[in-house]
Amino acid sequence: MKNNQSLTGGCICGQVKYQITDKLLFTQACHCKDCKVLTGSSYIVNSSVLENTLIVEGEVSSTELKAGSGASYKTYFCTKCGTYVYADYDSAVGRLTVRTKTLDNSEKFPPQVHIFTKDKDPWLNLSEDVICFKEMYDQKKTWPEESLNRYNEYLKANSK
Ligand SMILES: [Zn+2]
Ligand SMILES: [Zn+2]
Repeated sequence: MKNNQSLTGGCICGQVKYQITDKLLFTQACHCKDCKVLTGSSYIVNSSVLENTLIVEGEVSSTELKAGSGASYKTYFCTKCGTYVYADYDSAVGRLTVRTKTLDNSEKFPPQVHIFTKDKDPWLNLSEDVICFKEMYDQKKTWPEESLNRYNEYLKANSK
């Protein structure tokens, strides 16, 4: 591990705590309608991490949902307070998606892009230097090279 400062976070009641033992791969905000309902807010902020870098303590339960693309994903909640802490998308092989705002210092990880801004609330103004996509983006063209390399190396090392 190159990064010796691990990231920590957890749910609102304190029952679930987690550690991320390497840098985040990518952080994005999603304004799609599903994410609005899921969060009860205007958008969600999610961070992709390698699946072997998320260490969760405490009891979580999960439920399976369908993404806009039709692919399934599981969301994981604290069994006591219901805080949605992370998700496992079938389409994101080798990765888990942490809900960025459950990190202890989440303000340090602003979204690198905003997606599904076609569904953005009309009264929500994003600053002009923010990168927006009407829907989804091409990961290879959008993620920083370091993240792509780290992800590809992980896939290579763990493919059977
Ligand atoms: Zn909790
Ligand atoms: Zn969404």
